[in-house]
Parts: sequence; C-alpha cells; structure tokens
Amino acid sequence: MINLLIAEDDKVIRKVLEKSITSPVYKLFLAADGDEALRILEEKNIHIAILDWMLPGIEGIELCRMIRTRIETQYTYIILLTSRIDQEDLVKGFSAGADDYIKKPFYSLELDARLKTGKRIIELQSQLLETQEKLKIQATHDGLTKLLNRNSIIEIIEMEFERSEREKIPMGMIMADIDHFKKINDTYGHQAGDMVLRKVSSKLKSLLRPYDRVGRYGGEEFLILLPNCTEKKIEIIAERLRTGISEEEFKFNDEAVQITISLGFAITGRMDIHSPEMMLHLADNALYEAKRKGRNKWISADMASLVTKGENNGKESNFMAEKYN
Ligand code: GH3
Ligand code: MG
Ligand code: MG
Ligand code: MG
Repeated sequence: MINLLIAEDDKVIRKVLEKSITSPVYKLFLAADGDEALRILEEKNIHIAILDWMLPGIEGIELCRMIRTRIETQYTYIILLTSRIDQEDLVKGFSAGADDYIKKPFYSLELDARLKTGKRIIELQSQLLETQEKLKIQATHDGLTKLLNRNSIIEIIEMEFERSEREKIPMGMIMADIDHFKKINDTYGHQAGDMVLRKVSSKLKSLLRPYDRVGRYGGEEFLILLPNCTEKKIEIIAERLRTGISEEEFKFNDEAVQITISLGFAITGRMDIHSPEMMLHLADNALYEAKRKGRNKWISADMASLVTKGENNGKESNFMAEKYN
C-alpha cells in the first residue's frame, strides 16, 4: 500500500485528481492547504506527495523543502503540480527537493505514468532499507543464539560504562558460562549442544529486565550488561539466572538432563574499577572462582578477590540462595 497525499486548494482539480487515481495500491490523503498537508506529512507515513505549487498557507515549494529537511523516517517522492512552467521555475522546484512535476491541466494517463515511477522508486527504497536492516542485524547478532555478538556487546558495554561514569549511576556486568557443556556435545552430539545454547540464550533473555543486554561472548559464554544496577540487585539477578537455568527442562532421547551455569559479576563503584576492560577481567576472575568452587554458583568480583587473598569468608550463591526464596 502506497500512502499518497494530494495537496491542492482548487476543489475541482482535487476531485479530478482523486477520481483519476483508481488503483487500489494507493491510499489517498487529501489536503486543501499547506498547513493541512504538513500535518498529514508529519503524522502519516506519506510515500508519494502531489503538491500544488500555489497553496494557501505553506506553498508547495516550501513544503518540498520542509519534507527534505524535517521528515526523515520515509523517503517521500514529491510531484509538484503547476500551471505555469518556465525553466527557472523548474530549476527552483527541483532544487527545493521535488522529484518530478506535472503541468496543469493534466492528462490522466500521464499522471498514472508518473505515479508509477514514484511507486517504483519508493519500492526500491524500502527494499534497500529492508536489506540494510537485515545486514545490520547479521553484523551485530550471533546467528545461532540471536543474541548480540561479542563485538556488539563489548561496544555497548563501553558506551554504557562511559555513561555510568558521567551520570554516576552504577552498572553491573555478569559473565556466565554453561557448566560441563563439552559433556553435552560429547554425549548427545553437537546438535543437542546447539539446542542447549539456543534455549539457554532465550531463557537468559527472558529472565532479564527489558533494558539489560545479553551477548554471546564465546562458545558457551555469555556477557550480560545491567545498566542502573545496585549491588543488591545484581545478586538477585544472578540468582534468578542461576535458578532459572537449573530449573529449565532439557531432554535428550527422553532422558532429562539438568543444565547449570556459573556466573561471575562486577559492579562499577567497587574495587576501583576504572575501565570496562578491568570490569570484564574481574567478572571473568569471579566466574573462574565460581567454577572452581563447584559450578552452578555465582560469585562477585569482591568475593573472588577475597578468595585470591586467602580471606574467603565462604559467602557464595548457594549459601545465600535461601535469602531470595
Ligand atoms: P566448564 O564447566 O569448565 O565451563 O566446562 P565446559 O565443558 O563447559 O567448558 P569447555 O571450555 O571445556 O568446553 C566448551 C565447549 O563448548 C567446547 C566447544 O566444542 C563447545 N562449543 C563452543 N561453541 C559451540 C557451538 O556453537 N555449538 C556447540 N554445540 N558446541 C560449542
Ligand atoms: Mg493552488
Ligand atoms: Mg563451560
Ligand atoms: Mg567456556
């Protein structure tokens, strides 16, 4: 469906235009003056605009300029309607952003032909946008899990880290890794492994807040960004992810298999974190510690550093889990 605006103050010509456009592919919007036309242009996604050169309020040529500078969502193919055409006017019209013009009184077959050209351009443009969108998703997402890929999640984390520093709002980062994932591949095959990756990915996503971001950092490793996140909150989220995955049902050849993840996290404002790289490193260390302590656990960077210093007080996820029940 092509949204077509006709802006013409002359009632008779407007009617004739309306009557000549018979194809059902066009959805017509009519305006009798420039202001009304502008309102429609701003509210509706207009693909083709037939604008009378002389309009009360905002003139056709001025509307042309406004469309080109103000309306960015959709390319509007502009056909100017004019009664007097001299070369100077033509140049003026095209430099204001018009794509084509029709001379009044117009011949309906010519109108039809010119509209078809407009329609072709609009269709080409929407195909181009669609392809662009697809390519963008391909470039930023992981094909198997549909999560953000490694580069994009890191890029987003770098941006959010800066924002968190600027606005003094803490942000959290979780590194999560599937436990003994190699065993799934070895026992049930690579396809079963892929299925686990997909299911774990969508489960993680569903357990996070809408503004949290999750990316596939490596094979079976996930990196999660939690903007605006306090220390208490990140513990709750980590626990939610841990239990969410461990309670999810996985079945291979009618055999129920439990999948678990280990998590390590860091939060800005703690441990002198001064860069996203340092944060990543601390979250990764904490993850390593969670693995070492037996897996299916979460550990914070603070706790992990106590462990490294030999001052472990034994505070860890399973131990604390009761608190959240
Ligand atoms: P740990 O608990 O210490 O994390 O043990 P693990 O077995 O999960 O870890 P390890 O790093 O030894 O093995 C990860 C495996 O993940 C090895 C690799 O073949 C597998 N893997 C990586 N990417 C994919 C993938 O896209 N699909 C499948 N099916 N397997 C993958
Ligand atoms: Mg007029
Ligand atoms: Mg693993
Ligand atoms: Mg791993």
